[in-house]
Amino acid sequence: MSKKILIINTGGTLSSVKGTNGLIPGMSSNDMLEELRMVSKNLELETEDFCSLDSANIGPTDWAGLAKLISQKSYDYHGIVVIHGTDTMAYTSSMLSFMLQNISIPVVITGSQLSIANPVADALENCRCGIHMAASGYPGIFVAFNRKVMLGCRASKVRTMSFDAFESINYPYVGEISSLGLRVFKNNLVEKKGIFQPRTAYSDNVALLKLYPGIKPDILDILCDRGCRGVFIEGFGLGGMPFVNNDFIGKIGEITEKGMLVLAGSQCRYEGSNLSVYETGRLALEKGVIQAYDMTTEAAMTKLMWVLGQTDNLREIKEYFSVDIAGEICIDISSDSSYNVCIQHTNNHIFKEVLYYDTKTNY
Ligand code: ASP
Repeated sequence: MSKKILIINTGGTLSSVKGTNGLIPGMSSNDMLEELRMVSKNLELETEDFCSLDSANIGPTDWAGLAKLISQKSYDYHGIVVIHGTDTMAYTSSMLSFMLQNISIPVVITGSQLSIANPVADALENCRCGIHMAASGYPGIFVAFNRKVMLGCRASKVRTMSFDAFESINYPYVGEISSLGLRVFKNNLVEKKGIFQPRTAYSDNVALLKLYPGIKPDILDILCDRGCRGVFIEGFGLGGMPFVNNDFIGKIGEITEKGMLVLAGSQCRYEGSNLSVYETGRLALEKGVIQAYDMTTEAAMTKLMWVLGQTDNLREIKEYFSVDIAGEICIDISSDSSYNVCIQHTNNHIFKEVLYYDTKTNY
């Protein structure tokens, strides 16, 4: 019996056609079915259209709707492929990783830089990778792009035009297609941690703030006064924030006192934050910020939205951020701050995580 794969279309460049105002998503999943069958061989494909949007127009309500649809369909198919615009794909794949944690089948999100109608497009290659990963039997939420498979909560769009547009950030790839076929690196998969129960609640009363030298602290008052429940602040380097002349950290203290949640990370894409190294980080920790460590911006923002949808209780919120839910975070597990988590890179693939004695602060 051949495996049944469901293709859910949401739009994006892969399905695009020329509109009077530039490219727009235009093809339905049925319009693309014949071509998709060329790369799926013996698998049985069925299709469904969820929406037909440029991914700039996709947001939290769509994530919740999509998660509910995937959850219902997950009992009838061996795997699901979601066709999605690339621009916000990593936000969708990150949020689905939280909403659909412990799902029992592979759910693979993919898209392309050129329309499937274009003869030189990457569309079929990406769908091939997505469809065969969906048939692999390895459960989880993944992104497939340019012959590589990554955890949905580690994917990030890093290039605007290249076919190699996505990378797995601070985490090794979980699969790749080469002349050896589709290889899945089992050690990099995330183990199921419980039974599957979709959890689609979220709060979108959140904000993302990237620091720049000279940023005015009162931006935090504005967010607080407008009812923002949580903000993810991308600080400098390891996560540092100003307090001399411009007391941004002092203002953080004021808003955390008022009950706003502050998640703090780095604006550097790779290797994550560690606020316990410099005074500019430690003072922020003393004001009650929670560390984002090595989460991508997309994972940090969607985790913030998702966690605030689960509870109002600060103790529980902190608990959620102290654990890894879907492979999104590598927490510094040492209580001794002289030890840090070190992530070693080889050829752009991170292969090992070790605890090391921190010679930066203990010389
Ligand atoms: N603007 C498109 C989208 O995100 C880009 C793409 O799909 O590559 O929907």
